[in-house]
Amino acid sequence: MEKNIAVIKGDGIGPEIVAEAMKVLDKVAEKYGHKFNYEQLLMGGCSIDANGVPLTDETIERCKAADAVLMGSIGGDTTTSPWYKLPANLRPEAGLLGLRKALGLFANLRPCLLFRQLSDACPLKKEISSKGFDMLIMRELTGGLYFGKRYTEEKNGVMTAVDTLEYSEPEIRRIAKKAFEVAMQRRKKVTSVDKANVLDSSRLWRKVVEEVARDYPEVKLEHMLVDNSAMQLVKDPAQFDVMVTENMFGDILSDEASMITGSIGMLASASMNETSFGLYEPSGGSAPDIAGQNKANPIATILSAAMMLRYSFKLDKEADAVESAVNGVLEAGFRTGDIMSEGMTLVSCSEMGTKIAEFI
Ligand code: NAD
Repeated sequence: MEKNIAVIKGDGIGPEIVAEAMKVLDKVAEKYGHKFNYEQLLMGGCSIDANGVPLTDETIERCKAADAVLMGSIGGDTTTSPWYKLPANLRPEAGLLGLRKALGLFANLRPCLLFRQLSDACPLKKEISSKGFDMLIMRELTGGLYFGKRYTEEKNGVMTAVDTLEYSEPEIRRIAKKAFEVAMQRRKKVTSVDKANVLDSSRLWRKVVEEVARDYPEVKLEHMLVDNSAMQLVKDPAQFDVMVTENMFGDILSDEASMITGSIGMLASASMNETSFGLYEPSGGSAPDIAGQNKANPIATILSAAMMLRYSFKLDKEADAVESAVNGVLEAGFRTGDIMSEGMTLVSCSEMGTKIAEFI
């Protein structure tokens, strides 16, 4: 298989962690007889320095022409970097928001997986963490409360603020479809999270999700109220496979879920549109405090590349190989600084990438 990958290394640790993901992808290509062509593009702070804007039309067009986008992270130290003296629409983050919009990426996928070897970093009680967990939170990214009409006004002498939560049937249908498709590639269970006992938008959400479920008879569907979901995530995370929810609930629940996995350096993510196209990036930022020191953990980016293999290229076997290589390297006791513990072997960012490639 031959695929074209747009690569946005970005700022800070971005170039270091993406280089390691490319090392692992190259090993996958060599072993399984594929060809991955990379096109390097600028976005974020490095694009501001080169082009005066965080995102150019050329970067958008080249990303659209690719089969998938692999990204590092963008941005700098928000207190000292000159990028943050610019107006908000010219700062690095505006580039990422603009790119997500231009590519129509409405579904955010965040796997939350507790590696057995790192279970000490999990803040949950041993009896819960020892069972392990492997779930994926799918958050609607372009609708709901964050995109509805909002205003603040004085009513009868009292300041009043209004935010609106709006979802249309097609918006719910496309994210629900995505959730069931992803569940078909996993353990075939979808938990749809809503607040249908109170909100109209949640009642429509539930109705549409049920309609979509009929097309996926192999997938078990359950509904859960968002308040209960927040409790269940810390009480029994092993019960979840794919959790699908609207924008704000997903924002909060995905942070809660990432907290119980331990380190930010381990968390992959993907943003997808209706097709198999996606943008794959680690959940963390550009970590300016350790940039350029070969200290960053590249595993989140490598696991994001594994998601690209699975969800954009439908290369399940190859994605499994990357994930089990990460497992193998952790099992062998290699750790970057952020996940280091007593008795383990400390390795650099590039050594970690090399070890994982060797395990493929
Ligand atoms: P951050 O995630 O960059 O860093 C928080 C802490 O986590 C730091 O101590 C950092 O060293 C550590 N860390 C993060 N990734 C790591 C890795 N792979 N390995 C080891 N340690 C890691 O968050 P921040 O400091 O709040 O933000 C820094 C910059 O990143 C800001 O400009 C912010 O806007 C940007 N940011 C970008 C993205 C993105 O590109 N999608 C996401 C979040 C933040």
